[in-house]
Amino acid sequence: MAQLYFIYSTMGGGKSLELLKTAHIYECQGKKVLLFTSEKDTRYANLASDAKIGKIVARIGLEKDAWLIERVNCYDLAIQYKPNCILVDEAQFLTEPVVLDLARIVDELDIPVVCFGLKNDFMNQLFEGSRALLLYADKIQELKAVCYYCDRKATMNMRLQNGRPVFEGEQILVGGSVGDAIESEITYVPVCRKCYMSFKKQALVRE
Ligand SMILES: [Zn+2]
Repeated sequence: MAQLYFIYSTMGGGKSLELLKTAHIYECQGKKVLLFTSEKDTRYANLASDAKIGKIVARIGLEKDAWLIERVNCYDLAIQYKPNCILVDEAQFLTEPVVLDLARIVDELDIPVVCFGLKNDFMNQLFEGSRALLLYADKIQELKAVCYYCDRKATMNMRLQNGRPVFEGEQILVGGSVGDAIESEITYVPVCRKCYMSFKKQALVRE
């Protein structure tokens, strides 16, 4: 029996690396994997209006092409390609109907689907895709990351705008991650709850 998995972590938790590793293991055994990512991850996507293919990139330098899930029908592709496994990156950006399509792939086609993504946004609310996956996934797993400022486990993502923590704004505003080569006005750091709360309090005092 195939299952629907949700593997989540904060920024910098190695989700894309874990996904590419899983794809590599399947491919080494001559098995087929179908890869999806989101057009909302504008860091690497080819955003030509007719593009259907984006990229999954791990910071240590690995990358693979992946279907842009918003621009194709994942259920039809699963029927067409009959993969041994489906891997989805940036799963926080999925809509609930697409999560339900992925669940149908698991239940009706008996193909395992593994979704990798963030759980909470920079305001510490669930993303739509993460919420749906927490509700519908058979297995939920956390990849651990370490707080940027101390050694506690990171459970939250903090948005920095020009280097300063911000706690209000649009939910989806793609930026770099600390350590990325990409120069960006917006960056994200993984933080523990204690550091997040402390920065938030300081931001409120400043206002
Ligand atoms: Zn901390």
